[in-house]
Amino acid sequence: MTTNKTPDSTLKPCPCRKCGTNYVRPPHQIRSSHYICPTCMKVKDKKRRLTEARREYMRKYKKKYHATKTEKTKERCRAKTRKAVASGVLKKESCEVCESPTSQAHHEDYNDPFTVRWFCDQHHKDLHNHRHQTESENE
Ligand SMILES: [Zn+2]
Ligand SMILES: [Zn+2]
Ligand SMILES: [Zn+2]
Repeated sequence: MTTNKTPDSTLKPCPCRKCGTNYVRPPHQIRSSHYICPTCMKVKDKKRRLTEARREYMRKYKKKYHATKTEKTKERCRAKTRKAVASGVLKKESCEVCESPTSQAHHEDYNDPFTVRWFCDQHHKDLHNHRHQTESENE
């Protein structure tokens, strides 16, 4: 039984491309052009993991920060609208689409609690779902 494998080369120490230390390459590195010794590999791995972890953390942090901020603005806006409706400043209307009387206030701009459109639960959801889709497409 003969194979194309040359078992000798696995045992021959080669200098590491990074630090120059002679080391015996493991079989899976024979064909690789990056002859890096296990020590350098560990350093490289650690660096990569750190960068990835940091990137992931920043992404989550930004997302969370953004979400809390918009949630707060929305909540404040809804509260103002509720007050305005309760005090008669704003008049609750039926759904713009199907004229259902069980409507919810929809804000075009969460910084403007007095500019609202009225939608029933279903049409309000539809509107937001549609909007989310277009938003993510634009990103
Ligand atoms: Zn090395
Ligand atoms: Zn409706
Ligand atoms: Zn809405």
